Amino acid sequence: MKAITVEPGKPGTARYEDIPEPDVREGSILVEAVAAAVCGTDIEIAEGKYGWAPPGQTRLVLGHESLGRIIDPGVSVSFKKGDLVAGIVRRPDPVPCPNCAVGESDMCRNGRYTERGIKEIHGFMSERWRIEPEYAIKVDPSLGILAVLLEPATVIIKALEQVLAVGQRSFWEPKTLLVTGAGPIGLLAAAVARLAGIEVHVLDRVETGPKPELVRALGATYHSGSVLDLGFEPDVVVECTGVGSVIADSIQKIGAGGIVCLTGVGAGGIASRAVADVAAAAVLKNNVVVGSVNANRRHWYKAAERLARLDRKWLSRLITRYEKPENFKQALERKPDDIKVVIEFSEI
Ligand SMILES: [Zn+2]
Repeated sequence: MKAITVEPGKPGTARYEDIPEPDVREGSILVEAVAAAVCGTDIEIAEGKYGWAPPGQTRLVLGHESLGRIIDPGVSVSFKKGDLVAGIVRRPDPVPCPNCAVGESDMCRNGRYTERGIKEIHGFMSERWRIEPEYAIKVDPSLGILAVLLEPATVIIKALEQVLAVGQRSFWEPKTLLVTGAGPIGLLAAAVARLAGIEVHVLDRVETGPKPELVRALGATYHSGSVLDLGFEPDVVVECTGVGSVIADSIQKIGAGGIVCLTGVGAGGIASRAVADVAAAAVLKNNVVVGSVNANRRHWYKAAERLARLDRKWLSRLITRYEKPENFKQALERKPDDIKVVIEFSEI
């Protein structure tokens, strides 16, 4: 079968090539790939920045945002041929740590977890893949190819769950939520938060293109410019840019008792404010800054339910480009108007 593979750590090694059929040890369910979405992580792995091949191998099958159709459910009785599924990305570490031991590998303590298409397990950008029944998530068939957006939605479900958990420390009825960054994660955060009926604001650099209208279509308010210039103090910030100045501004601007949830992974940046000043603002307003990454089975289940409740037309506008697997090079390129790029492996 064909797959999109890379040699991790070496830029420019991505290929669409013949590889053996998926190993039965990767799971009892055999799946035909329908689509795989591309995110920054895939691009960075293809650029050689990180990524790990399975032990004893030199190449890694890319892809962690999956959608497939079951060809053979194997021994599982809860799945049948033809079911549309997505695959959970992370697997527990082998020790396991206390969190992995209780099914919370998203909170892994020792960093020895593995991840499909990223860390030591092949991903989903192959014509066929296998998955263990406990890591396969059924999606609403009426979503069609839009169900490939499930993985980014799981990240948001976990982040919002973290915010709610922190909020329980005191009396707390959040009225306003600010999302920074109108990429796929930020837009899905806004959409999911709107389902909960909260007042949502989205801030991004751009003033044109599809993002402002996508935000307005949710009944949310779009802002460009600086967080500090907003005319209100949000109760919650979901930070999706990873940009140092946006993070610092968010911590300064958040309202009293507010929660800033960081989901973006950036690097560097200039310390625009003295750390003790930022800390003093947090102390005097009882603010919390919480980081959130990945998602466990509970978040995947909730995300599948929330995604199915979102407007199909709106979701379809998040996918700004479809590519065939043989055009993987274009798929792994960042273009200015991209929101989400999807590689189509077979007809839905
Ligand atoms: Zn662990």
